[in-house]
Amino acid sequence: MRIWIIALLALFLVACSPAGDASSGDGGEEKEKTENKQEEEKEEEKTEDTNGEEEQKKEAEETKGMKETEEPIEPQYTLQEDWSFAPINDAEEKVALLTIDDAPDEHAVEMAEKLKEKKAPAIFFVNGHFLDTPEEEEMLKEIHAMGFPIGNHTMTHASLPDLSQEEQREEIVGLSDRIEKIIGERPEFFRAPFGQNTEYSKQLVQEEGMLLMNWTYGYDWNEEYTNAEALSDIMVNTPLLRNGANLLMHDREWTNNALNDIVTGLRDKGYTLLNPEKIERP
Ligand SMILES: [Zn+2]
Repeated sequence: MRIWIIALLALFLVACSPAGDASSGDGGEEKEKTENKQEEEKEEEKTEDTNGEEEQKKEAEETKGMKETEEPIEPQYTLQEDWSFAPINDAEEKVALLTIDDAPDEHAVEMAEKLKEKKAPAIFFVNGHFLDTPEEEEMLKEIHAMGFPIGNHTMTHASLPDLSQEEQREEIVGLSDRIEKIIGERPEFFRAPFGQNTEYSKQLVQEEGMLLMNWTYGYDWNEEYTNAEALSDIMVNTPLLRNGANLLMHDREWTNNALNDIVTGLRDKGYTLLNPEKIERP
């Protein structure tokens, strides 16, 4: 009789052990088997599963701006004439958009990794002259694969008012064609070099279905702010920071070095980094 009790006890312990493994988060198959065998533990397991789902949902919510979901997001912000963003209906007002221009040069991939790590959305505005080698194409793919929307910043970063219509078309449409060849999508955002457009470029951008934007402030091309400390300070503490601000930064060493502090500083001030997917496009 005593032997039977010991045997039963041993069986019970063996049956219990996979449940212990399952709670560590892996071994889904074992989990299912255990559920079938151990009715009592079912409730506990269910709770674990639900928590897992909630975590996944939260994760998806946080990274929505990074294009990880295929479902279209309802526009919640509209671009204003002064290049800032206003909420549509009851969307959060205290937002700021991060943009990185003149990419992908030397730092864009690292900048994208930093932003991704912090779940900070941004648009990378790229130029064709940074996309003419297989290595550069690979960099664009990496940035896009990390979930960042790719914007059109023209083929050669020329000043559009100096160009003929045909040349402007090549600068804008030519780059969208090249981007599509590399990542399989045409850009949905456009920013002219130096913020200089022509009537014709505006028309082209519209025909291409892109949203044309300049910016509300930026400092990283200014001699005074070509070091990380000064740049992160001014980007966060400038009087120009306000709801819907459109922040211009570049693929530069000091901007890369300032990036973590800029993201943290904006968030500490209560700003949500605007998910470009929520911006209304033409
Ligand atoms: Zn530029």
